[in-house]
Amino acid sequence: MSDPNRVLQWNRPRTEVRLDERVRMADQIRGRYDFSDSAVLKAMRNVPRHWFVPSAQQVSAYADSPLPIGHGQTISQPFIVAYMTSVLPLDPNSRVLEIGTGSGYQAAVLNEFTPHVFTIEIVRPLGERAIRTFQEHGYHTIRVKIGDGYRGWPEYAPFDAIIVTCAPDKIPAPLLEQLKPGGRMMIPVGGRWSLQELVLVDKTAADKISKRSVMPVRFVPLVREKE
Ligand code: SAH
Repeated sequence: MSDPNRVLQWNRPRTEVRLDERVRMADQIRGRYDFSDSAVLKAMRNVPRHWFVPSAQQVSAYADSPLPIGHGQTISQPFIVAYMTSVLPLDPNSRVLEIGTGSGYQAAVLNEFTPHVFTIEIVRPLGERAIRTFQEHGYHTIRVKIGDGYRGWPEYAPFDAIIVTCAPDKIPAPLLEQLKPGGRMMIPVGGRWSLQELVLVDKTAADKISKRSVMPVRFVPLVREKE
């Protein structure tokens, strides 16, 4: 028997280790950037960022900056993770697709809001390391695919939310197609050496697309499979 009012339960791993640093990090996001989304700030306090940071970067795991994660890639600055999360429509029934798994940290933050997190990484060793991190710490519901995220993940589409953490020159058409009517996408757009803009894309119930630039950003480029 399925009860429509049933509250979905899923694993959201926790630790007290370095909690004081996470509290400070969340306070900084609120204070320095005038960011007040309390649900997202709570998620930032709950997710142990140090689980996703390589050993050489452990001292800086809670610093207000991006960090190298190997293979020329970076884990985004905490404020950017918080901001991108806060504009997405997320509840326990939302399906969210992330392009650019990297360390897995952003996916773990999304997992605080919904068990339906799908994430794609093109660099195999990074994808495999993220899978191991998820297994080790008990993120049982996050689904990872190793491949070119430009094409999205049609088997699980449509998505209520799509978050892209690497920058293409223009918005990939397959991702627009895989966005649900009423859904939202957050994507950095721009060239490798030029200014990138973080773009908020809305798809209306009538399948109309509207785009708005929200801030200048700097992400690693989205690369294609056969580049
Ligand atoms: N969200 C990550 C940050 C990732 S950095 C985190 O929380 O740690 C961006 C990532 O996008 C890199 O790991 C890079 O390898 C990946 N990437 C680049 N092009 C891609 C593509 N076409 N498909 C999937 N991932 C891609």
